[in-house]
Amino acid sequence: MREARRIVVKVGSSSLTTASGGLDADRVDALVDVLAKVRSGGEKEIVLVSSGAIAAGLAPLGLRRRPRDLARQQAAASVGQGLLVARYTASFARYGVRVGQVLLTSDDMSRRAHHRNASRTLDKLLAMGAFPIVNENDTVATDEIRFGDNDRLAALVAHLVHADLLVLLSDVDGVYDGDPGKPGTSRIAQVRGPKDLADVEIGSAGKAGVGTGGMVTKVEAARIAAAAGIPVVLTSAVHAADALTGQDTGTYFHPTGKRSADRLLWLQHASTPQGALTLDDGAVRAVVERRTSLLPAGIAAVEGEFSAGDPVELRDGAGRAVARGLVNFDAKEIPRLIGRSTRELARELGPGYEREVVHRDDLVLLHP
Ligand code: GLU
Repeated sequence: MREARRIVVKVGSSSLTTASGGLDADRVDALVDVLAKVRSGGEKEIVLVSSGAIAAGLAPLGLRRRPRDLARQQAAASVGQGLLVARYTASFARYGVRVGQVLLTSDDMSRRAHHRNASRTLDKLLAMGAFPIVNENDTVATDEIRFGDNDRLAALVAHLVHADLLVLLSDVDGVYDGDPGKPGTSRIAQVRGPKDLADVEIGSAGKAGVGTGGMVTKVEAARIAAAAGIPVVLTSAVHAADALTGQDTGTYFHPTGKRSADRLLWLQHASTPQGALTLDDGAVRAVVERRTSLLPAGIAAVEGEFSAGDPVELRDGAGRAVARGLVNFDAKEIPRLIGRSTRELARELGPGYEREVVHRDDLVLLHP
């Protein structure tokens, strides 16, 4: 942890707001003090993933509590995001540091061009000495509003920027082996793999009621990052300095896997499939066992409304999802391709049809 050079820090809504729900300038300043100090040595680069947009937008819109409907939550996020970044801008200005706002959706991450652009922008911001602050683009996406409070987004961003460490900050200082409010429960200091948490019941409700994550999405985010080779510290915002300087705090998740090819993690964890392709048995074997591309000849059925470039699910004859991939055709083009050879299609419909329906490089197996 001490050696981590590039760190993604995620902070939840409840760590940035007052009990009544507005942004708490003191808590923002306290976090920025830690981040600015860690970064000032010049050896560490930090990307902050910050929630709090919805919470910050409530009071200005005359809302007393978080609305239930998504449209009003998104409206609150729209008002609050500006205020949130203005607050960070003022707070970092105390250290002469510029901030850059980056709004992402998890689907952006599976699209080749968006993925590349996001990665390049974040790299460039860091290289130019600016401090990137990421949030979900709540106007168009609601993944994290519904269930996540940016936890999963933070894991995906950590992978995107090739982070050496992911620090998840909230109002709970780690994973406990029971209800942290009850006597006799203790903090789990290290998690070496899923087995270590097999018997632990993980609470889901966020304490302050302004965020959506709870411990479940944090542990899930930690697993995604750890499986992609990135160690994770899960602790409370007051212990941010310890987590960033390698002190023992919270729960440490050891990496369980190796870094996977760039976009595939997004495809596996982030994308919501827009449709499904059912494969015949031969194609299932080819895709799953021989890791080949999916050709029109191997498709038995198509479902859903998707466009070329969208993530789709690949199913076997029993309806079981075996893979996900980025599809090369619109849904409405597929029926006339089904079961036919690419050569035949090219002759009949033109050279544009001599291609895979899902290229093997755009494909990830769900049960490898
Ligand atoms: N992007 C949302 C925000 O910043 C996520 C957090 C939430 O659901 O409260 O407010």
